[in-house]
Amino acid sequence: MATIQLNNYAIDITENFRDQPHFVPLFTENDFSKIFVLADENTRTFCLPVIAPFLPEFQLITIRSGESEKNIDTCKYLWEQLMDMGAERSSLLINLGGGVIGDMGGFVAGTFKRGLPFIHIPTTLLAQVDASVGGKLGIDLNGVKNLVGLFQDPKHIYISAEFLRTLPFEQVRSGFAEMLKHGLISDKAYWQVLKDTDLRQFVAPEKMIKRSVEIKKQVVASDPYEKGLRKILNFGHTIGHAIETLSLNGNMHPLLHGEAIAIGMICEAWLSASVNGLPESELTDITTCLMHHFPKQDITPLATSELLHVMQMDKKNKNGKIQFSLLHTIGNCGFDITADEKLIQASLNYYQNQ
Ligand code: NAD
Repeated sequence: MATIQLNNYAIDITENFRDQPHFVPLFTENDFSKIFVLADENTRTFCLPVIAPFLPEFQLITIRSGESEKNIDTCKYLWEQLMDMGAERSSLLINLGGGVIGDMGGFVAGTFKRGLPFIHIPTTLLAQVDASVGGKLGIDLNGVKNLVGLFQDPKHIYISAEFLRTLPFEQVRSGFAEMLKHGLISDKAYWQVLKDTDLRQFVAPEKMIKRSVEIKKQVVASDPYEKGLRKILNFGHTIGHAIETLSLNGNMHPLLHGEAIAIGMICEAWLSASVNGLPESELTDITTCLMHHFPKQDITPLATSELLHVMQMDKKNKNGKIQFSLLHTIGNCGFDITADEKLIQASLNYYQNQ
């Protein structure tokens, strides 16, 4: 069991949910008028039975799973559900699920009646090591990822590795991409450990989850609103998000978040070597590792003009220029670095030629 404190909330990490020391006390120490659990069909089936024995009386709201649900229509449905079920500012919303449930449930809670307390119980690896930590909440708009949202902290985060037992392998691998990113941007020793990890044998990952949460916490605590250093968490995401957006819009085989980010990290590692001094040997190391874990995708159907169009909407951009977070070395990342269209195209070619 480990506890990591971020701002004024705690992140508790255990192997089994029943060993969470602060979950039952949450309800004895707070007088919530009503408790709502937000789940999708998978977390209702696989995760709700794990937490239900420890919950007081609650009302369940279920939505369909998937990124395509993370939109304003679902939010309207959720606000209406909360209204119909009598949610008040003294109620609690429990987000039980992956990053979609956490991002959207937090956004809905943060805006309903100008803010209802919420907690995250992240049930995917990606949500445990990344999405639930740091207070970023939001939804997609017209197919553009995370365009509308806010920063707001949860009351508590309860991470338990046992939820990963029912998670499909591809989803575990998707979360692993963000863990690799954590090593790449700030901890070379952690990168080495992850690199040698056999994902099929990923049986007791609490230690690694803890290290990733610590890294994210350190970065977020120093720059909660992404004015500077927090941008390093976007390594791989400028190109990765654009690829993810186009893949979700039907331009290619749909990719999970981490699968798109893995491609983005290879392209942006190449950009790092081209304009930010990343040694060639480290570029090779990164490319080899990511290509080993993530099957090659054919990105040729993605017109560069469309990719660039999506990148133009990236929230990190300044004065209309696409900004990157790029590595100096493995474990050391810079931010606010521009690269022109030719270089971006060349980085995509580098991936395509692997
Ligand atoms: P997700 O929430 O769609 O979950 C993936 C799938 O796993 C879903 O089908 C879900 O039903 C299923 N699932 C969840 N837990 C399960 C379990 N324990 N057993 C079996 N199935 C389970 O996707 P995700 O990868 O968790 O999150 C992706 C989202 O996170 C994206 O929208 C991304 O933008 C967001 N994100 C946010 C941040 C942030 O800082 N807020 C950071 C990274 C990613």
